[in-house]
Amino acid sequence: MAEYPYFKDIHEDVRQIARGVAAEFKKTAAEADENSDYSIVERNLKRLGELNLLGLHIPKEFGGQGLDLISYMVALEEIEKACGGTGMSYDAQTLAIDSINEAGSDEQRKKYLPLLCKDKISAFGLSEPGAGSDSAALKTTARLEGDQYVINGSKHFITDAAIADIIIVYAVTDPEKKAHGISSFIVPKDTPGLKIGKVEKKMGVKASPTTEFFMDNCRVPRENILGTEGNGFIAAMKTLDIGRLAIGAQCVGLSKAALEIAVAYAKEREQFGRTIAKFQAIQFMIADMATKVAAMENLTYHAAWLIQEGKEGGSQAAAMAKLFCSEETLDVTDKAIQILGGVGFTTDYPVERFHRDAKIMTIGEGTSEVQRLVISRAVIGR
Ligand SMILES: Cc1cc2nc3c(=O)[nH]c(=O)nc-3n(C[C@H](O)[C@H](O)[C@H](O)COP(=O)(O)OP(=O)(O)OC[C@H]3O[C@@H](n4cnc5c(N)ncnc54)[C@H](O)[C@@H]3O)c2cc1C
Repeated sequence: MAEYPYFKDIHEDVRQIARGVAAEFKKTAAEADENSDYSIVERNLKRLGELNLLGLHIPKEFGGQGLDLISYMVALEEIEKACGGTGMSYDAQTLAIDSINEAGSDEQRKKYLPLLCKDKISAFGLSEPGAGSDSAALKTTARLEGDQYVINGSKHFITDAAIADIIIVYAVTDPEKKAHGISSFIVPKDTPGLKIGKVEKKMGVKASPTTEFFMDNCRVPRENILGTEGNGFIAAMKTLDIGRLAIGAQCVGLSKAALEIAVAYAKEREQFGRTIAKFQAIQFMIADMATKVAAMENLTYHAAWLIQEGKEGGSQAAAMAKLFCSEETLDVTDKAIQILGGVGFTTDYPVERFHRDAKIMTIGEGTSEVQRLVISRAVIGR
């Protein structure tokens, strides 16, 4: 592990545990990608739960490990190096865990978090066909009837909804109040009226299921609201700050893995009577890649440290980390393919998969353009 002020001995311990299980996941990553086999990711998520790697930053009293945010990021970085589909689903599981941790009551935390830190799978249901970047434009509604909320609407692009036991659903409880009229609910997947739709066919993170679902008069007990009516949007934004850090960590993982493969290949492959690592063109690509990896690591872990310590500027730093890391991971994985030449373009090496997996990083949890909005508002003011 590089010597950064953010890392302590505990992070090295977490890294070693994550690295151990990542070696298992690596064996099936290509097959999971090729067949879009999300049963592999489902199994991997349960394995993460067995090893106490889910909810690392959640307090022990709620079933987590009581560690810090950086511990989660280190674990995610290692998992991503091995299997991007599992990395994506690990991130989504944590978004749902964080939603409950952020907005739920102690009773809800005690009831649900130990399950989600162990072997129950959960999904984060914010996006809708008409509400992507403009996530406050939700059409899904939740109406209080007696002691139940009745939820109607649909969600799309929801990671793991197909395999989840519990879905966190964001819905409008008061349309007059716009973003302040959004609330979030714990919705068990077997709630009558909830129907899972198609699993999307994607260019990357293929083994992580991305799904639409429909809610037709889904009734949940009144106590399934997270926090109070109207606090859902702010809670979602706080949860997404951690999600943006998680994208940074995944990018660090993907980029490090691509760099390692490119360096090893360059030292071995010979052309014109010498290894290609002797050509300055290759050396300079490697220099650029290594510099970008270092910058990504610093931005991401610095932002994580700001957020975990409750310092000023955490949201802005998380947006910067997400923007820079996602855009540059596309470049680093592209350069890895270039260094490998023709074989880089085949499935004999995982760098083509890394490049496909990298693209979602510029879209999910707020596109690059949305990150630029967040950053420019912080710098210039509204
Ligand atoms: C694989 C995958 C997994 C996902 N998982 C989840 C999940 O688990 N839960 C969940 O809730 N969502 C999930 N999403 C949804 C994801 O968060 C959205 O796709 C993303 O926020 C972008 O929304 P959109 O696709 O509707 O694009 P749009 O918002 O329609 O954007 C289209 C283009 O317009 C640009 N744009 C939009 N508004 C502006 C603006 N104001 N200024 C400048 N440019 C703008 C965008 O940057 C983009 O380039 C997932 C998506 C994918 C593809």
